This record gives sequence, C-alpha cells and structure tokens, in this order.
Amino acid sequence: MEYAYLHFHAALKDFISPGGRNKAITRAINRKASIKDVIESCDVPHTEIDLIIVNGVSVDFDYIVQNGDEIHVYPDCSTALTESGKPLRHLSPPLPEKPWFIVDANLGRLARYLRLLGFDCLYRNDFADQSIAEISCKTQRIVLTRDRKLLKRKIITYGYFVRTDIPKAQIRETLHRFNLYASLAPLTRCTHCNEKLVSAEKPLIAHRLKPLTRQYYDKFLICPGCNRIYWQGSHSMHIKRLIEEFCRQPAR
Ligand SMILES: [Zn+2]
Repeated sequence: MEYAYLHFHAALKDFISPGGRNKAITRAINRKASIKDVIESCDVPHTEIDLIIVNGVSVDFDYIVQNGDEIHVYPDCSTALTESGKPLRHLSPPLPEKPWFIVDANLGRLARYLRLLGFDCLYRNDFADQSIAEISCKTQRIVLTRDRKLLKRKIITYGYFVRTDIPKAQIRETLHRFNLYASLAPLTRCTHCNEKLVSAEKPLIAHRLKPLTRQYYDKFLICPGCNRIYWQGSHSMHIKRLIEEFCRQPAR
C-alpha cells in the first residue's frame, strides 16, 4: 500500500476534527489519484484552497499524488513559500469585481441580511444542490453554504463554507471573508426578491400609502420585481440598528 501525508494550514484546520489539526493526516492512495480528490477525501472542499505545496513545490489540482508525498494545503491569503523559491501557483481565481452570491436553501436569514446591505444574492427555500451548482457555474456567483458536499462539486469555482450557524455571525463572517465593507449599499435592494430598488414618484404611488406615511415622507423607492414600496420609515429601528452594527468594520 502507498501513502501520502497531508498537512492543513490556517483556516483549513476548521475542517479537521480538533484532535487531528496539528498532525499529518495519512491517506492510502490509489494509482492516478488527483490531489484534488485526495484532499477532498479529508472533507476539505476545493473552493477553500489557494495553495498546494508537495515536497516543497507548488502544484495544481491535477497533480497525481505519489507514494510518500508530503502535502501542505493552504487557504486564500496565506503567506506560504516554496522551499525552492519557485513561483507559487495560486489556485483560487480572482473574485469578480462586484461579488454576487447564491445561497443554499438552509441560509435564508443570511440571504436576507446580504440583500439588506445591498448585495445581489439569489435564494430560494427549495433550491436543489444541482441547481445551485449549475447557476453558480454559469454566472460565476459565489456559493455560500454549510454543506461541504455541495462545495465539492467540480463545476463550482467560487464557493465558501460558512463556519457558524448563527445568522448575525454568518453575515459578519461573509463581509470579512470577501472584504465587502467598501461595497456596502444598505437599503438599496428588495429583501424579498433581490431586485435593485428604483425611486418612485410620490404622486404615482400616493394611493398605496397609509395617511401618516403620505403626510410625513416624500422620498420613496419601489421594487420592480414585487412592487413593494420602501421609505425611510418602512424599516423598524431594530433593522436600522442591525445595519449599523453590520456596517461597522471590525479592527483587523
Ligand atoms: Zn421585491
């Protein structure tokens, strides 16, 4: 039997059980096993990986694992170096300038928070994994999920495994991971259907407003998708406070 030895670094340790995080993981290898398959057999999705260094040399996902290989795997933003000083092959592709998202069926609150902050985010509570993968592949949307199996699908290039299951922490985690603070545009997108809001002439919508709203507000936005009307007072104080809280960039 032949073996390879895998070492996962930095945020990739999140995928390894606590007892195994600081030691090599030994994997029996078949002939012609790609390094992508060997890494994913340890339950680390390829979408989380930026660098793979084998015996001191940077390789890509097609590298065929050899007996005795020492494999070091790093996430994005790592500062790993090859022993030989040869150039590194960064595997995570550059993100689209304006990242947009597709969120799996279990992360509805995260989708709503992303829309609240102005980010284009597709979500349906009956989204099948296959549809999510296909849409992401065709449109280059970033898949956000807590399902590692979904991220292991070959056709997904952009994806992120959301670590926490608490929605408010999920939005902070996403803002931090993709450094979205410069792109925040709160209250510019419909939280129900994801359409970008457009301004509405008050006389044209006045008949749909309650008397006090008509009296005290002059600026309105409307969703071209579902026709909902939004104005300064349409969001509760609770939502406004949440937005303020999300927009505050934590010190690094
Ligand atoms: Zn809408």
